[in-house]
Amino acid sequence: MRKKIVAGNWKMNNDLQESLKLFSEVANMVKDEVSNDAEIIVSAPFTNIYALDQWKNGSDIHDKIKLSGQNCCWEESGAYTGEVSAKMLKSIGAEYVIIGHSERRQYFAETNALLAKKVDLALKHELIPIFCIGETLQEREKNIHLDLIKNQLQEGLFHLIKSVVKTVVIAYEPVWAIGTGLTATPEQAQEIHAFIRQLIVEGYDEETANEVSILYGGSCNPSNAASLFSQKDIDGGLIGGASLKSRDFTDIIKTFN
Ligand code: PGA
Repeated sequence: MRKKIVAGNWKMNNDLQESLKLFSEVANMVKDEVSNDAEIIVSAPFTNIYALDQWKNGSDIHDKIKLSGQNCCWEESGAYTGEVSAKMLKSIGAEYVIIGHSERRQYFAETNALLAKKVDLALKHELIPIFCIGETLQEREKNIHLDLIKNQLQEGLFHLIKSVVKTVVIAYEPVWAIGTGLTATPEQAQEIHAFIRQLIVEGYDEETANEVSILYGGSCNPSNAASLFSQKDIDGGLIGGASLKSRDFTDIIKTFN
């Protein structure tokens, strides 16, 4: 059975004190209220991951919530001012890293080829990539979204061998639904998730496709999470805005109770 996952993506929010406060609130709510075994991930700003890991290790929830980076460099080390490497992230307690978020693709012109290099470095340093794909509204309206998603996967991820690709998490995030309050309907999301899983069948095989967790992201909240997560090919969510509120994030996790 593939993993059910709820991952919070804090983006560029929360300074150190705010991060510790939010994280400890979530940890306490999770301890008291969550009875399922979904993997819970918090993707915090680089500057706060070490402190969150230290906090976690000193608490009794220490393995329940995993930490993630929001990006990593496409090179191993060296003269890349301002970048953070996969190895550095691993060394401060991250277990996952988001790669190819649409905001990175949009504002930092990250290409599929570059993202493939990031995926390789993340895996080399034992970080699990949360590989993001998804179309803009214009691409959907032009009806080129399926080809686009296929390219994103083939160029960014499908160079991996079978035993490795099945360890990766994929997040389908339609760009038009991110931070807009416009959620894909459960049926729209399921259609794309089934398409993604079929691409994995074609690129690898059925067994591999059945092992890859595919998350939905884009204005997911406590009121729509249950209908999204009950779809056959939706294995959880990548949560932006709603992960900044401990109550909302915990309620989304509780969808799997
Ligand atoms: P949102 O963001 O939930 O605020 O739409 C999701 C994401 O960008 O990962």
